[in-house]
Amino acid sequence: MSKKLSGIGASNGISIAKVYILNEQPIVISNSNVSDVQKELEIIENSIIKAKKDLEGLQKIALEKLGEEKAAIFEAHASILEDPAMAEEFTALVKDKKYNAAKAIKEVADKYIVMFQSMDDAYFQERAADVKDVTERLIRYILNLPVADLATINEEVIIVAEDLTPSQTAQLNPKFVKGFACNIGGRTSHAAIMARSLEIPAVLGLKTILNSVKENDILAIDGESGEVEVNPKNKEDWDKLAQNFAKEKEELKTFKDKPTLTKDGFDGFLLEGNIGSPKDIESVLENGGEGIGLFRSEFLYMDNDHFPTEEEQFIAYKQVVEGMQGKLVIIRTLDIGGDKKLSYFKFPEEMNPFLGYRAIRFTMDRKDIFKDQIRALLRASAFGPVGIMFPMIATVDEFLAAKKFTLDCKADLEKDGHKIGKDLEIGMMVEIPAAAVNAENFAKHADFFSVGTNDLIQYTMAADRMSENVTYLYQPYNPSILKLLKMTIDGAHKHGKWAGMCGEMAGEPQAIPLLMGLGLDAYSMSATSILKARSIMSKLTMSETQELAKNALDCETAEQVLELVSNLLNK
Ligand code: PEP
Ligand code: MG
Repeated sequence: MSKKLSGIGASNGISIAKVYILNEQPIVISNSNVSDVQKELEIIENSIIKAKKDLEGLQKIALEKLGEEKAAIFEAHASILEDPAMAEEFTALVKDKKYNAAKAIKEVADKYIVMFQSMDDAYFQERAADVKDVTERLIRYILNLPVADLATINEEVIIVAEDLTPSQTAQLNPKFVKGFACNIGGRTSHAAIMARSLEIPAVLGLKTILNSVKENDILAIDGESGEVEVNPKNKEDWDKLAQNFAKEKEELKTFKDKPTLTKDGFDGFLLEGNIGSPKDIESVLENGGEGIGLFRSEFLYMDNDHFPTEEEQFIAYKQVVEGMQGKLVIIRTLDIGGDKKLSYFKFPEEMNPFLGYRAIRFTMDRKDIFKDQIRALLRASAFGPVGIMFPMIATVDEFLAAKKFTLDCKADLEKDGHKIGKDLEIGMMVEIPAAAVNAENFAKHADFFSVGTNDLIQYTMAADRMSENVTYLYQPYNPSILKLLKMTIDGAHKHGKWAGMCGEMAGEPQAIPLLMGLGLDAYSMSATSILKARSIMSKLTMSETQELAKNALDCETAEQVLELVSNLLNK
């Protein structure tokens, strides 16, 4: 019987194939205690050796199929296995509390998983999946449970699973695996990232797909819209979608080396990538990115057991700046606090941590810590164009103080003979409504703006970006948001400055025509959205996007705005 489901489109493409149901035997861990501590520790040690060997093999497969960047995930997994803090914790549980091996690993893993999941950044939340992946592998060895071997699939299938771990995804051979559909996961999960680089269509977050299929069913999936149909009624409709997708893909490839141009030849827009670590630049360059519009530097801090030193940070920033070969790299200073915690620093308890001691409020209070970052950024600017960007700026005084601190550090470095890049720019995120409303004044002092719509929308609509209960209020296309964007962009332009965007909205196909019309200069997004953005821009003239933006600003609701956009895109 035919059945339709809707999930999150995680990797574009259309596929129709037989289902391959991945239903692993569940892990059941006994509560019993052990008497032979030494034996239990040996069991853990042996399973770690076995898992490391596995990871080496997987890394080799991934290196051949996915390239260096994705294969590095398995190095990261191996480093979790070698993490001395974790090892100390589960050894203590076995020794002191007489926990059995599986229970000890599970308890420590759960602690780290909860810690990563509670961070308010999707990137770090997804790191919870890494810890889960590695530790489940260990527990399966300890309990003698089979570990699924997807590398042996040798007929065309779409995998249906609760979730796919990064190590499972890396085993997939795109020749046979035509797609996957999972109950859980989102666009930033590793499975999604890998699916995109393997170019396998994927739909995640389907919640009930595993219960909706049985052996020999046929599944059709649309990795862009997130639509899925079990035993499709009209296979011709799906075939047509597949043909259209193949055509679009060919067309998009041709945009890789093309300049970013509108239909009427305007060349003033820049398409850039967002990154969380130096290794992410590979994908930005592969997708024709013209710079880095946001490097979330908190990655260097959260993935560490101490505040990274000036030297450690300098190495990472220099790697990105050199890797981008003369293209502008915007690095955001530490955006920590709220529920983005550090294992080695205790933030004060607050009723509203998102409105509390965080980001620039924290770093300007702890200049001892901030100084190392600013010095590292300034030194890296000698190797290519760098923009230093302050997060969560609310007042002009705050921006001026942070800028002065940066210029003082610059003077100190120059006194000591360090070279600082002459193209250095000092700008700010516009993610607090007060900054958008007052943009014209900020633009007298800032070299650039980058709108953080992820936060700007949550603060404007008073709707927590993480809460499933108020997603109906989280409206990027609400006219109030468009008005704030207009104020920001106009404010920048009035003083000859440029305005960019690095929130998720910048890469959304429906937002791009509006942002063009509003005059946004730089669009920073996940690497795989860049070519589509370039293609959209090439099909629109400046005058029609300006007309669209003007009409959208007169709308009363987000639905009305979206209708105007779809009329233009489908004309
Ligand atoms: C934003 O708020 O839009 C942004 C880009 O920053 P983050 O998502 O890291 O808060
Ligand atoms: Mg933000």
